[in-house]
Amino acid sequence: MEEIENKGGQGRTELEKLGEFGLIERLTQDLPIHHPQNTLKAVGDDAAVLRIPEGHVQLVSKDLLIEGVHFDMTYCPLKHLGYKAIAVNLSDIAAMNAKPLQVLVGIAVSNRYSLEALEELYAGMRLCCERYGVDLVGGDTTSSASGLCISVTVLGSARPERVAYRSGAKENDLLCVSGDLGGAYAGLLLLEREKREFLANPAMQPDFKDFSYVLERQLKPEPRLDIVDLLEKIGVVPTSMIDVSDGLASEILHLSKESGCGCMLHESKIPVDLETCKALEMFKILPEVAALSGGEDYELLFTVKQADYEKIKDCHQVKVIGYMTEAAQGNFLVPENGTLVPLTAQGWQAFDKR
Ligand code: ADP
Ligand code: MG
Repeated sequence: MEEIENKGGQGRTELEKLGEFGLIERLTQDLPIHHPQNTLKAVGDDAAVLRIPEGHVQLVSKDLLIEGVHFDMTYCPLKHLGYKAIAVNLSDIAAMNAKPLQVLVGIAVSNRYSLEALEELYAGMRLCCERYGVDLVGGDTTSSASGLCISVTVLGSARPERVAYRSGAKENDLLCVSGDLGGAYAGLLLLEREKREFLANPAMQPDFKDFSYVLERQLKPEPRLDIVDLLEKIGVVPTSMIDVSDGLASEILHLSKESGCGCMLHESKIPVDLETCKALEMFKILPEVAALSGGEDYELLFTVKQADYEKIKDCHQVKVIGYMTEAAQGNFLVPENGTLVPLTAQGWQAFDKR
């Protein structure tokens, strides 16, 4: 996590000393442009001027992050928060099988925050924009009565025939997921435990050794734009797709409902990383439960036609975890031995009943 480590020991410049324009200037200076063909004017005028690539359609998405609701400043470093705020938006564009080009960032901030704190936030945002070649083209800045609110809008594009909707899955399509699941939830459990211990004894040092992967999964998720590239390279258009922000069970039910299908999800096929399993064990949580109900993994869940199996079977980043059925059959988790468990958005309940 070195590259995103917070710089310690900077001074504190009060926002009122800078004023709104001074602040905007500091936060937006020297923003790089990765797509000069598409970003004709970025920050600095009343509106950005953008061009959609020839033959593409435009995709737009927005996410709102509120302090105390979506993030907790006691354990979320501002640089990570900035990175994550951009990353989760890029993930929404990836989930349409499209590519992000630009983002706009609105912030409302209380005087509890200093210029240096906001510069940390923007350093994280810049890092994520840089990594994924996205242009930060504008935003808005205002004060808030308490805490920090961040609103990110992302603009992306794709050829219309490549766009993947939640509603396109058909009976017998294969259900696939990228990467592994449950890690972000394991990271959250660790951070919450450390926060409790820190509040009880502020002299305590956090014990995070051996858990860097799950902490990164929680604090610094990566949008799976590599999967969008991969699918293009192997010539597959998913019949449906969604990103896993709320847990696998809930996302599968979205695809099923929107597509008018049912599904069979094979429990033993759900990918969970070894470090995730070890972390979850400390909290006595089954890996499948964290994968089904944990959330914030930002992997891609998608369906492909059976005929595309040959094309995806050797892609190590993707796993086939089940298949779609007709709606009347319902949505089920198929355990390795034993009877089918109805899939519910709260995987907890399904597991409790077993
Ligand atoms: P206006 O008064 O027209 O809303 P602003 O002074 O708010 O203009 O913004 C000036 C420029 O700075 C605009 O290009 C705007 O998009 C950009 N901008 C404002 N706030 C932010 C921010 N938080 N992040 C990035 N760009 C910003
Ligand atoms: Mg404005």
